[in-house]
Amino acid sequence: MTLPELQEAVRQMQEPGYRAKQIYQWLHIRKVQEFSEMTDLPAVLRTKLESDFKIPRLKIARKLSSQIDNTIKYLYQLPDGQHIETVLMHYQHGWRLCISTQVGCKMGCQFCASTIAGYVRNLTASEMLLQIDETERDAGVSVSGIVLMGIGEPLDNFDHVMRFLELLSDPAGRQMSLRHVTISTCGIVPRIRELADRKTGLTLAVSLHQATNTQRNKIMPVNKRYPLEELMCACQYYFEKTGRRVTYEYAVIEHENNNLADAKALAELLKHQQAHVNLIPVNSVRERNYHATRQSAQKFMKYLEDLGIHATIRRTLGSDIQAACGQLRHETEEHF
Ligand code: SF4
Repeated sequence: MTLPELQEAVRQMQEPGYRAKQIYQWLHIRKVQEFSEMTDLPAVLRTKLESDFKIPRLKIARKLSSQIDNTIKYLYQLPDGQHIETVLMHYQHGWRLCISTQVGCKMGCQFCASTIAGYVRNLTASEMLLQIDETERDAGVSVSGIVLMGIGEPLDNFDHVMRFLELLSDPAGRQMSLRHVTISTCGIVPRIRELADRKTGLTLAVSLHQATNTQRNKIMPVNKRYPLEELMCACQYYFEKTGRRVTYEYAVIEHENNNLADAKALAELLKHQQAHVNLIPVNSVRERNYHATRQSAQKFMKYLEDLGIHATIRRTLGSDIQAACGQLRHETEEHF
């Protein structure tokens, strides 16, 4: 619940209005798991809250800790038995959490394990917040950045994601600046424009992976609905409205998108954009014959730099624990 919703619920319980803020702070600042822990509320109110409301939890179904860096991958079981993944990563400036926004995904990107088992349902705002709370509790860390880049397409779950952002950044609660949040999308054009109009201040990362419609249609079905011309216009609109430079994600796939002609096509596509390209050597997925090495990503980065496009290669974290999106959930679903 948002604070105004909680205020309304408290009003209906005929309790004084300030109780709503007390409860809200117990939930979002102190992050208690039981109403009985809300010690400044009268006992009778705590009992009533316990009977009328529920503080949900996520169960850790599996947890994999990397032996080569501090990455931890969680497979969480939701209250309805579905599974999602959350990945905790350590960067120079603190802990960053990659969260899921849907159970499965409809988008069908060829290189992605999240989509293989299909789409089941959207996550609620509360299930997104709980990924942060449960992980912080288990790992004993405080997360300073969130990326919506786990299982699911965040802009395909727009309303719940917007509600999540509202709760995450609420000055009366968690107070996280949305400048520390990144949303990754495969390119749902109307929603990019809507996000731009909201001027949230977050970073938009667009998964590009190919620079021509013919090639992109083959690996990202969303391109048939929203082709590159429309996508680039929406990204330009996002930049103009928010002043925030869009990041373009490009998974380098050997023999698919990493030769000089691909780099030229990408440079041509981005020549009028305030662009930064983030190269990711593609994660191997058992069902797909895709692979790449860091060396091939470096070679592609050099092509881009020579063409005047600013690019970096994303650090690979948790490579020993299947940190690619959807792999753990997919394997677990296969075994149940
Ligand atoms: S890359 Fe993202 S949008 Fe594409 S199938 Fe995977 S989770 Fe869905």
